[in-house]
Amino acid sequence: LQLNQDNLAAIGNHIPVPNYNRTTGTANIVHIGVGGFHRAHLAYYLHQLKQGGTATKWNIIGIGLREADKNIHEVLKAQDHLYTLMVKNPDGKIEPEVIGSIVDFKMGTTDSESVIAQMAEANTKIVSLTITEGGYNFNPTTGEFNFDNPDIQHELRHPNDPITVYGFLAAALQRRRDAGLPAFTIMSCDNIEHNGDMARKMLLTFAEAQDQELANWIAKEVSFPNSMVDRITPVTTPADIETLAQNFGVQDAWPVTCEPFIQWVVEDKFPNGRPDFEKVGVQFVPDVGPYEKMKLRLLNAGHSVLGLLGALHGHPTINACVEDELFANYLRTFLDEEATPVLGDIKGINLTDYKNGLIERFANPNIKDSVSRICSESSAKLPKFLIATIHENLATGGSIKFATLVLAAWCYYSDKKVNQNGQPLEIIDAMQGKLHDAAKETANNSLAFIQLESLFGGLSENERFTSCYTFMRAQLYKTNDIKKLMQSQ
Ligand code: NAD
Repeated sequence: LQLNQDNLAAIGNHIPVPNYNRTTGTANIVHIGVGGFHRAHLAYYLHQLKQGGTATKWNIIGIGLREADKNIHEVLKAQDHLYTLMVKNPDGKIEPEVIGSIVDFKMGTTDSESVIAQMAEANTKIVSLTITEGGYNFNPTTGEFNFDNPDIQHELRHPNDPITVYGFLAAALQRRRDAGLPAFTIMSCDNIEHNGDMARKMLLTFAEAQDQELANWIAKEVSFPNSMVDRITPVTTPADIETLAQNFGVQDAWPVTCEPFIQWVVEDKFPNGRPDFEKVGVQFVPDVGPYEKMKLRLLNAGHSVLGLLGALHGHPTINACVEDELFANYLRTFLDEEATPVLGDIKGINLTDYKNGLIERFANPNIKDSVSRICSESSAKLPKFLIATIHENLATGGSIKFATLVLAAWCYYSDKKVNQNGQPLEIIDAMQGKLHDAAKETANNSLAFIQLESLFGGLSENERFTSCYTFMRAQLYKTNDIKKLMQSQ
């Protein structure tokens, strides 16, 4: 059965489908970046509320701002914006469910006016984001707005022709202000520490360069709640599409797979209203800081540790890494000895239980999260997830060697672009060229890679770090054996 609104009743004989009316909304969440994660997380939370008979007035309108979003746009359009979420349990059981909370999708690349109008409409109460770390347009070390981005320069010259998220947000907020409408809340759901504060700082910097009065209005009127989001959502594979069709009789061109675990901790700052997300387990807290730090420094850093070391060794997936005892022990020691000491006490959280849970989640043999996805955009991820921990441990005299080996592995990975068995690595990173050149240069200058200041922020000048790093890098290049080095820590 082809997934679409007309076939929903019939599909409902096979798997759960929306039981609510999808045409009666009067309050919108406009979401930019309808990737896998949004469809497994925010859209799923709203779907659950609607299945339970609440949040009936709320809907999600998806927005794509990049050429690459054309694919998801076409797929969702053909399926009346329905898609299947396939929850994969560790015991092998797959629980698919059709999600109906997204009701429309617009492309900023081809129809910018309609995107601005949608955001500027009175019914739009929240604009939410999952645009990846790169979408925020900040320099990873200084945290400052990157005005060198040619798209940003274009937008500053042509405010009516937006390209980036900031151009669209500023254009829509300006219209709301001029129409006397209240601002929407901007809700980042990306894996960035203080994601709301970051979105606020970047948007204000952009708006100040464009129109100071508008910037003043945004500063006063727009709320940017911080949030911590969590649910492992790997890239959908052709095998997932096939499993859904063969085992459940549903033809969906782009289902999403995820783990059973889901978490969302948010600051309750929604002056323009929000769905009652607490009814489906979302935690509203006054300060998300400690929760997000815990998640980024344990889960995300843990992923990067396994991903980079695993990529070099030739493990294809995260679960393959943790099935390897050496990798599992290495990860646990990194978490206990380097990441945990930089976290304070976190209200209501037992860190030992959290770490045990993490390793179980990584081990889920059904998720098969590829190390290449985990390593993708490492230049945007590592400064926040891992390098920040090294800086903090250097300041307090704490252990750094487990994280440092990962940086040496990253140099090797960027330089050789093959794993230790000579197989090519799939490297996806906006800084790929720079990383490769700097890593190659380590043949002449062993510190060349970590002298990329925007990523490593002064590590190359710290003697304790450089002596540990240069030793590890040299050993790795000499032995081509990451496991041997992991063993010797
Ligand atoms: P994805 O590749 O499926 O989707 C990424 C989306 O971001 C796409 O719609 C893309 O067009 C958009 N995007 C990328 N760069 C952009 C830019 N410069 N401007 C505007 N839009 C841009 O990825 P995903 O798995 O959905 O993950 C997205 C983000 O969600 C991650 O970067 C992370 O911050 C957060 N997240 C993901 C997971 C996960 O397990 N996948 C878990 C927690 C949080």
